[in-house]
Amino acid sequence: MYRGKSITELRSLLDSSEVTAEELFSDANTLAHRFQEDYNSFVTILDTMKYKKRDSLLDGICYALKDNFSTNGILTTASSNILKDYVPVYDATVVRKLKNAGAILLGKTVLDELAMGGTGTTGHTGVVCNPWDKKRMIGGSSAGSCACVALGIVPFSIGSDTGDSVRKPAAFGGVVGFKPTYGRISRYGLFAFASSLDHVAMFTRNVLDAAIVTDVLKGKDPHDMTTLANDEKNYVSLLNQDVKGKKLFYVKEICGIDVMEQSDDLELKETLARFHEVLDNIRKEGFEIEEVSIRKELLEAIYPSYMSISCAEATSNNSNLTGILFGPRGEGDTIEEIMFDARTKGFSEFIKRRFVLGSYILQKENQEKLFLNAQRVRRMLVDQMNQFFQKYDAMIAPCSGGPAPYFDATSEKLSDRYLILENHLAIGNFGGFPSITLPYGFVQDMPVGLNITGRVCEDDLVLAIASHIEEITGMKDLYCKVGE
Ligand code: GLN
Repeated sequence: MYRGKSITELRSLLDSSEVTAEELFSDANTLAHRFQEDYNSFVTILDTMKYKKRDSLLDGICYALKDNFSTNGILTTASSNILKDYVPVYDATVVRKLKNAGAILLGKTVLDELAMGGTGTTGHTGVVCNPWDKKRMIGGSSAGSCACVALGIVPFSIGSDTGDSVRKPAAFGGVVGFKPTYGRISRYGLFAFASSLDHVAMFTRNVLDAAIVTDVLKGKDPHDMTTLANDEKNYVSLLNQDVKGKKLFYVKEICGIDVMEQSDDLELKETLARFHEVLDNIRKEGFEIEEVSIRKELLEAIYPSYMSISCAEATSNNSNLTGILFGPRGEGDTIEEIMFDARTKGFSEFIKRRFVLGSYILQKENQEKLFLNAQRVRRMLVDQMNQFFQKYDAMIAPCSGGPAPYFDATSEKLSDRYLILENHLAIGNFGGFPSITLPYGFVQDMPVGLNITGRVCEDDLVLAIASHIEEITGMKDLYCKVGE
């Protein structure tokens, strides 16, 4: 009955007593169970609600949480066998903040194992399907958090974004995905993947709702020394700031007309053609948009550099998963045997491959050539972006070279053009830039998303620009009405 409603819509229903928090929870809980078999958004669906009324825009609103955030007394698996029975004894800061704002946790969502991956297919409880077409992926790693918002079960959910794990699935699911500036939201209680790249991020169905959630979550946290001091900005009230005349740029080598014309991939052509139509409409509304160029070799280095840095950090961060302190206990007579057994059984092949890569990269004799070189590429890209940001307010680009891929898609798309278009979102993590995805159209009846990335600490401006573009595209409050 309340399916598909945004935070803002539910707020006014709650405030006028047309619905109670209990009714909303019960409705969302029914929907969660109804869609679980077909789409598999959840690892755990909560059947009882914990709620205390608060004076907040999120009071009485249900949400879902990626299963790599610590929840006191609630199973938290990171979608990995190595944590399949782990019940934490404390809440992540975002969980505590949402509780204090009166938001109600509906369930913990499926991810790619340990948040490594982009397909939503590697979680230990199975594959997450795209609500718009069950034969396609929803993307990942925050797969379940995206699917349950795209299905209209909850108006918002929390994910984590290390390379694109919220902003890419958001595009495939036709919803908004926002990753604020690095340090804006505390990561205390988020299982670390690659600490220099990890961000807390969110899915919502419009930009205003993303501003509402960010206002609640942001702020300094003594438990996370990387958090920024509060910027004293209220993102909701700054959403309507004047953005007329703001300057945007797009990168020729990522999404210029040439990329479209030189490709014979029909999906890519259509996705980019639609993107350039939207750029024209945005221009008509008073934004300036210019094309800039970045050396292709530098852009092609995004993927290998991202993999080098993230696998190295992940190998180190996940060395606590020994099967001794938590998770299923391994078998063996010595500590080494127990650890060996737990890690052999607990991780899938995908994860082991990344740890092998990470260990190799961190070996003393490889560090200079692999790890430090990757860091240099990262620095060059971030410098390049900051140079553009002196003249322009934000970058605009499509999130992907097409709509969500089919599960059985072959990897012929790994041409070099595709590699850039598929992986540029990691620039947002390299620099810690605020970065948001919003839907801009349909290709083959599937939603496609565009991304706006802005200067560090200008979360308010990125949200305001996105909010205006959302009005221009008219693609707002979208959800998939399957089963209605
Ligand atoms: N797809 C990327 C990876 O596999 C991003 C993951 C993420 O952002 N958590 O590493």
